[in-house]
Amino acid sequence: MGKFLILFLLVTNYIYAAGEARNYNEQISFIFELSDKFTITEMGTLQYPEHDYTLYKISYGNIEGNGDASSGGKNYLFLSGLHGPETAPVYEIKAFMQHLDSIDLIDNVKIDFIYILNPYGFEHDLRYNGNGIDINRDFISFETKEAQYLIESIQDENYNGVYDFHEHGATTGLLLYVYSNRSKRLGISILESLQNNNIPLENNYVDVVLKARNGIISVPFYAKIYFMNLKKQATTGLYFDKIHVPEVFVIETPWRMEMEKRREMIHLFLQEIL
Ligand SMILES: [Zn+2]
Repeated sequence: MGKFLILFLLVTNYIYAAGEARNYNEQISFIFELSDKFTITEMGTLQYPEHDYTLYKISYGNIEGNGDASSGGKNYLFLSGLHGPETAPVYEIKAFMQHLDSIDLIDNVKIDFIYILNPYGFEHDLRYNGNGIDINRDFISFETKEAQYLIESIQDENYNGVYDFHEHGATTGLLLYVYSNRSKRLGISILESLQNNNIPLENNYVDVVLKARNGIISVPFYAKIYFMNLKKQATTGLYFDKIHVPEVFVIETPWRMEMEKRREMIHLFLQEIL
């Protein structure tokens, strides 16, 4: 009996999963319909036994001078889809790009979008890439093609902000990881206005020893040393902080909350940045 039950569950699960199947090429097809406010650059192609995936950098707008903060402009990198199951940022950032395309060009603002860095994870609903590696721990040894292509494609950039959008299964409110006092101050002011829109902020989650307070986990120096030097594991946040990007944020929406609410959080957050 047990065996039949398991078989039944496997089959029904499979049918359910098939119904929910996500397709990377379908999901990104809209980028080829964007106007000339955007430039599309191929970053490289990932080769997995069953499928190849081409990664794209989607660049909005342009910026004066060398692109750093001295020009008075904003030069940003927005990342999403490093972990396959975290889909609210992927869907909402698509809507954001289409919104930017529908309005007048914003002067002296450039945003590079790397929209789904983990296509294999996106299609298979997996945190890991096609080789079973967590891309968001790979920003120190750069074993994965995904992390390598990302770094190669932004080599000449002088970003003043990097925003990496994720989702978290153990939180009930919006959570920001910040890596400097400057980012913390900016994060607090963004979260204050989100709170006016009744967005809940995470206040309970503890990441090893770092506790979220009013929606913020401020990563201290000793934690940076621990992860980078001892564990040899670096997230995008740790990496971009280390190379001195002034504003670095990892944004976590609560994955257990319904999709519409998570998307609204991201929508309001994006509005606050620009
Ligand atoms: Zn994630």
